[in-house]
Amino acid sequence: MRIDIVTVFPEYLAPARLSLLGKAITAGTLQLHVHDLRDWATDRHRTIDDTPFGGGPGMVMRPDVWGQALDDILVGLPSDTRIVVPTPAGVPFTQRSVEQYVEVPGVILACGRYEGIDERVWEHFGERFAVDQISIGDYVLAGGEVASLVFLEAVARLLPGVLGNEESALDDSFAKQRTGGALEGPVYTKPRSWRGLDVPTVLVSGDHGKVASWRASESTRRTARNRPDLGSLRPEDQE
Ligand code: SAM
Repeated sequence: MRIDIVTVFPEYLAPARLSLLGKAITAGTLQLHVHDLRDWATDRHRTIDDTPFGGGPGMVMRPDVWGQALDDILVGLPSDTRIVVPTPAGVPFTQRSVEQYVEVPGVILACGRYEGIDERVWEHFGERFAVDQISIGDYVLAGGEVASLVFLEAVARLLPGVLGNEESALDDSFAKQRTGGALEGPVYTKPRSWRGLDVPTVLVSGDHGKVASWRASESTRRTARNRPDLGSLRPEDQE
């Protein structure tokens, strides 16, 4: 999968080359291209923003600079490349969205700053490409770079071969296949006894059936407590 990120702070994306993502890039599973938006500015100050029409505080990113950047980056990319625009005013980005992006050949992430990007950019490119405005949560960040890292890591870990153990994603919170979209329950490792606290006995019983049903009930309990909005999503609970 190819991911292009357009930003005024390319250095912000340095962590994308670490750990799991770094390995995916080295293996060629993920092709990451980070672009500095200022390379498309036309004046000697490399200006990329201006005051908002209608007045008000802050600055808005200019459509002409963004337009030229996207024109150039899109040359030669498949027509089903998606343009993803992180914004608090977007559609919530969830694990269901992540699963859909894993299927697409390429994504361009457009990182906003200040008051955001002139809306005409998305009207214009929306005529030829799918443009998705996504929000990573109900809070306001200073820029789209952190949201892009969130997108990148969530999508890349589901690409084939990226996780050491493909199975582990199936048990994760929100995974549809086994947990039906519920949260994962608590996990434990050695030592068996730590500061007077013991691992639940069922986990050391060796009885796989009992372990599975304990995990299922812990998952249901935690989901009801922490995320009642998710409801009872486990397939067996729905019957
Ligand atoms: N004026 C905008 C609004 O109120 O909707 C907020 C702009 S914010 C200060 C600057 C940039 O941060 C946005 O263009 C976007 O790229 C990014 N951003 C902020 N919060 C975000 C969120 N919850 N999800 C995704 N991107 C976000």
